[in-house]
Amino acid sequence: MSTLRFKALAELPFRNYRKDNAVEVPKKLSELFCENVFSEETMRAYLTKEAFTSIQDAIKKGSKTPRNIADQIAVAMKDWALSKGATHYTHWFQPLTGSTAEKHDSFFTPFESDRAIERFNGGMLIQQEPDASSFPNGGIRNTFEARGYTAWDPTSPAFIIGTTLCIPSIFISYTGEALDYKTPLLRALSALDDAATDVCKSYFDKNVTKVTATLGWEQEYFLVDSALYQSRPDLVFTGRTLLGHSPAKGQQLDDHYFGSIPTRVMNFMKELEIECMKLGIPVTTRHNEVAPNQFELAPMFEETNVAVDHNSLLMDIMARVAHKHHFHILFHEKPFKGVNGSGKHNNWSMATDTGENLLSPGKNPKKNLQFLTFFVNSLKAVYEYSDLLRASIATANNDHRLGANEAPPAIISAFIGSQLYGVLEELEKVTDGKLSPEEKTELKLNVVGKIPEILLDNTDRNRTSPFAFTGNKFEFRAVGSSSNCAGPMTVLNAIMAKQLRTFKGEVDDLIDNKNLKKDEAIFNVLREYIKDCKSILFEGDGYSEDWANEAAKRGLNNLKTTPEALKSEMNKKFIELYEELGIYTKRELEARNEVKLEKYSTTIDIEAKVLSDIARNHIIPAALNYQNRLIDNVKGLKEIFGDKEFEPLAREQMDLIKGISANVAQIKVGVDELLAAKETASQMHGQKQAEAYCNDVKPRFDKIREASDALEMMVDDELWPMMKYRELLFTR
Ligand code: ADP
Ligand code: MG
Repeated sequence: MSTLRFKALAELPFRNYRKDNAVEVPKKLSELFCENVFSEETMRAYLTKEAFTSIQDAIKKGSKTPRNIADQIAVAMKDWALSKGATHYTHWFQPLTGSTAEKHDSFFTPFESDRAIERFNGGMLIQQEPDASSFPNGGIRNTFEARGYTAWDPTSPAFIIGTTLCIPSIFISYTGEALDYKTPLLRALSALDDAATDVCKSYFDKNVTKVTATLGWEQEYFLVDSALYQSRPDLVFTGRTLLGHSPAKGQQLDDHYFGSIPTRVMNFMKELEIECMKLGIPVTTRHNEVAPNQFELAPMFEETNVAVDHNSLLMDIMARVAHKHHFHILFHEKPFKGVNGSGKHNNWSMATDTGENLLSPGKNPKKNLQFLTFFVNSLKAVYEYSDLLRASIATANNDHRLGANEAPPAIISAFIGSQLYGVLEELEKVTDGKLSPEEKTELKLNVVGKIPEILLDNTDRNRTSPFAFTGNKFEFRAVGSSSNCAGPMTVLNAIMAKQLRTFKGEVDDLIDNKNLKKDEAIFNVLREYIKDCKSILFEGDGYSEDWANEAAKRGLNNLKTTPEALKSEMNKKFIELYEELGIYTKRELEARNEVKLEKYSTTIDIEAKVLSDIARNHIIPAALNYQNRLIDNVKGLKEIFGDKEFEPLAREQMDLIKGISANVAQIKVGVDELLAAKETASQMHGQKQAEAYCNDVKPRFDKIREASDALEMMVDDELWPMMKYRELLFTR
């Protein structure tokens, strides 16, 4: 019997009865909200008025905190943390590894020989120097031999996990280059703020002084029992199953989506929500997803930087809480073949400090024109920089999802619904130059004026579009479940910032040099944008073959693989955009591109090794073991029934013996070829290497999997060493 698999399965029936599973939920979750956060309310209680005002200015206006004030804030933070039982503090940051990083230092400071105090000052709050030499940096730190340091980001609140005060921070090299996700994100958000505020102030509302990008992510994930998980080396090492025959029942019946949540999972979710509440992560919805054992969680949207931090924090907490409930959480974009993968939809919009959503129409024509301005500029930004958006979501894992049957394609298009499409078509007809009074009235009443009504009953939804307008926000649906939202959010906000700058320049030019009125100038510029970006507007089925053909006709790129997408990222136009906005220097961009390429190659390299190991050392022995039993059986039949009579009795067994041999041979050849290709690829570097892994290594997985999955259907279940899909997906 295949011990590990069956031992794990034997544990399952008891899982639901474990005492440590039960979770006590307090009467009101709201009472826990921000319990472990150095929130505005806590600051008010712990800080002097001067310090409170200073940090609020830092948060809301981005002003610098003077050192003496930082000292005061540090002491207040420490007092608060100690009152919560904290003993340590850490700068909490997001290096390019994809997970969060922390280095704990104790508040405890000895002095003289036998005395000690808890110490924490402004310097310690503002900066920490982790020995960061082994974080991915794309060569930046090697060349300069400089240290990296982390610096406090006051715009994201500090929080306590366990006994540690965590201070959200950026991570940069000594020479100032970004080594993390947060630094470029903050730069992009600031660029967007400047550009959008300028447009609002100049054309729509002079009271606007700040525009923040908002983000509401939806996190999809799978849960697998931890014992079952441990029995699959591919899940443990790569996060996905490299082998496994599809089960008799998959998601065909669609009976999981929004179904009742299993008890064990419910306990996990309850505890997770309690932890989220305490940390100020405003989670509001939870439900089953389409695939068996797949679930989703979503919060109320927040300012983008905080939302990104909350998502990274959430992923850590989810893993920890899952562990407590004897689950392992899978964030991989495609853990199971033939079953839906997981995404992380990024809902995005912009809000003014006067309380308006810029992607939401308003009560008067001016507000509606404002909506239209931001709406059309968003589309134009996506049109101009679609390859950058594509590259922002490119990973080895997401490649399995994009373009697969249930995920948005790698072609970047936008869905806006047929009625809004109609409005754009009307606007395309706006007269070039000055507008007659009649045309102005017509536009005001019957085109722009109709938008609020249209959106009210705009029930159009398109789940197949990578970038869909959903009434008052865009939903970037192609983001992968395991990725840090900062990547795609940096790009989206950067391209929007650039687009709004261009827009402002063009409108001002028409006002100043062509003598057009403000509204006329705006209509004129929008008209041209609409003409341009119609090619990315697509209302049909994004998953269909027809769309791929149609998109090709329209001249849209279909960058199916990560190496292709990452190659396009280094386009001169994109480097200029980043340099102009001060988001990345060329060097930072090159470094980041290199990190991503390397990560891609390494992922496939590891998968190749794991697959070869499992196929050779787990699958082939099990197959031969069973084949030997069959051979013994055939020999026995022959012995009992003699040469003539045994044949019909042994036919099935003999076919199986042959089938097993054929598949074992296919695995043997497949593994030899795979390892040879992998060896060649591993000698290369950068773009070339990633292409080799993509084109010469990865396709060789299929032959091995095909043979192994065939064997799974032949070999005695009791001898099969790998946990089967039906067990991974249907036991809870
Ligand atoms: P839908 O019906 O389109 O799914 P919801 O209101 O349920 O809309 O929102 C889905 C997600 O979008 C949630 O995570 C929510 O926080 C987020 N969201 C809603 N409004 C905004 C906004 N203005 N900016 C960013 N995200 C938003
Ligand atoms: Mg969803």
